Amino acid sequence: TAESGPEIREGPVETTDGKHVEVAANLGGTGELTPAVESGADGVGLFRTEFLFLDRETPPTEDEQYDAVTDVLDAFVGDRVVVRTLDIGGDKPVPYLELPEESNPFLGERGIRLSLDRHRDLFETQLRALLRAAASEHGDGLAVMVPLVSTIPELEGALEAVDDVAADLADEGIEHARPELGVMIETPAAVLCADQVAERVEFLSIGTNDLTQYVMAVDRESEALADLHDPLHPPVLRAIRRTVEAGRAEDAWVGMCGEMAGDPDLTELLVGLGLDELSMSAVTVPAVKRRIEETSTDEAEDLAERALEAETRDEVRSLL
Ligand code: PEP
Ligand code: MG
Repeated sequence: TAESGPEIREGPVETTDGKHVEVAANLGGTGELTPAVESGADGVGLFRTEFLFLDRETPPTEDEQYDAVTDVLDAFVGDRVVVRTLDIGGDKPVPYLELPEESNPFLGERGIRLSLDRHRDLFETQLRALLRAAASEHGDGLAVMVPLVSTIPELEGALEAVDDVAADLADEGIEHARPELGVMIETPAAVLCADQVAERVEFLSIGTNDLTQYVMAVDRESEALADLHDPLHPPVLRAIRRTVEAGRAEDAWVGMCGEMAGDPDLTELLVGLGLDELSMSAVTVPAVKRRIEETSTDEAEDLAERALEAETRDEVRSLL
């Protein structure tokens, strides 16, 4: 737990040579907000809104979602709070929402695909809540990202939905603002077109849980194949590197919010790969902050260079 681990560090941290890396917390349920604040996190890098839809029989209303988001903004005044739009399907069922029976749910209707089509109504309601929250007292820090994008038209569809909702709110005379917008990079398609994605948004956030699953073609839940679902496989590292380079070229910041970001043994490697932000479960925030403060960017970049040239996961492990 946080109490038995390294000391809690409030405020931003930097490497030994002064490179700032933001350390944010993931929020995946009610009750996680207080630990996130107490962990010394610099903000929220992934607010998984799915939990607002669980343990109930109907979707949350616009006002309920507004309240949930402004609660987080009020707890992280002056910090960035990244909210992910509804990401259901695959490993994330919501019993009362109609999802199709599919033989490969991870390759089916999930993430943004549902939001643009079958559950567009839910998407619009959520965007209304988010655009209103962006205009709330502490709404300046709000950022919104969409999950599981694999095509540019999907991204454009999401951006158009934001514009449409803003126009509706304006017509209705309701206060709203445009939050910072980003995309989760968690499909190989998004990595390969990350330059075109980054041109259109302010940030990219790498979801290594799904990205590893899709790059390695291995179910993220398979126990038998857990060794394959490891982000240290060189192709996954190369996908991360490519995403960082694409973001940099387009002036988009690049973060990571998959499990990989919260492993202190991988912090140096991730700094070396060039991530601007790491977001993780609150309990690992102090340890990762400490690792960043012990890291020299030059050494981290050398490590990353060698890892990117490795041919096996075990070779990468032995470098760490
Ligand atoms: C990921 O895929 O890495 C991610 C952060 O999202 P989730 O685990 O919620 O799918
Ligand atoms: Mg994911």
